[in-house]
Amino acid sequence: MIGQPVHKTLLPSLPLSRFEIDRDHLFRDTPDVFEVLWADESTRVLPIWRQQALLRAGDSEAGAADWAGTPIREAGGSGHPTLALLSPADAPASDLLVYLGRSLADGRTEPVGTRIVAANLTDEAAALLEPDESRWVNLRTVAAELDDLDAGAFTEALGIINWHRSHTHCPRCGAETVPEKGGWVRRCPVQDIEIFPRTDPAVIVGIVDAQDRILLGSNALWENNRYSLLAGFVEPGESLEAASIREVLEESGVRILEPQYLGSQPWPFPASLMCGFLAHVDPDTAADPLLPDGEEILDVRWFSREDLEAPDATVLLPGSSSIARAIIEHWYGGPLPRPTW
Ligand SMILES: [Zn+2]
Repeated sequence: MIGQPVHKTLLPSLPLSRFEIDRDHLFRDTPDVFEVLWADESTRVLPIWRQQALLRAGDSEAGAADWAGTPIREAGGSGHPTLALLSPADAPASDLLVYLGRSLADGRTEPVGTRIVAANLTDEAAALLEPDESRWVNLRTVAAELDDLDAGAFTEALGIINWHRSHTHCPRCGAETVPEKGGWVRRCPVQDIEIFPRTDPAVIVGIVDAQDRILLGSNALWENNRYSLLAGFVEPGESLEAASIREVLEESGVRILEPQYLGSQPWPFPASLMCGFLAHVDPDTAADPLLPDGEEILDVRWFSREDLEAPDATVLLPGSSSIARAIIEHWYGGPLPRPTW
């Protein structure tokens, strides 16, 4: 595997970066937009309840386990589990609606151009959808199995719903804000200002040494044998590259040179955008000891390909929906055999 050429882009292996929706932003300005959408029986509603979407009956095995190397299934192919998309007449009342856009996906029950609305359900409303064999599922565990339309719509819906849930009041005067423009803006009625959705950029870095090993760390919040790439939030006034260099040094004591951008993936748990980088260790500091910060990161280790392949290894690697796994497999040159968490 060593020396195998790496793919030019990570994008095909990032489950949450897929999209088959035209966000159709001009339509958001339609007066009484949800009344217009509800009057159109071709509109489809994606129910969301407690961060979960509803898997259609017959697909109840999907997402039950997040096993190693779950490939993203071919777009438009058969065999994908599908998320429930309800007609307006079948959708229970919700406490928040967001217009996600128009479907661009071929080969679906819903034709290209179908308008899709995310509806955040109360417990009572969600219970109305439960009597059949459908099942509520988490994005993290089911993402890699969904087709591009469902994966993108679920990710978009969670990201924007999470923003609404944490921005109910004006940051300047504290007044309650109200959703507008199809759910893409909140307005402070006191100051008459618009408040726009936020995304928090974070960097995640694959670090490779001169022996072509990769650096993985174990977070204090995890079990001892769980390892992943080093990552952290970008601070105000900081570039992605500077954040990469700073975070790696803080968490491991390792100095890296010229981090190279690989790709990005939204991570709506609750509001991150993960920006992936690959970097090499500064050769002048290669002999320096590893220094985990002891607070966030308890252990950092260099792993060879053989370390990750060994059948008796007890190391758990990140799950199939994460950019961390995509970057590790990008370095490794293919799917990893190791169990995930
Ligand atoms: Zn205000």
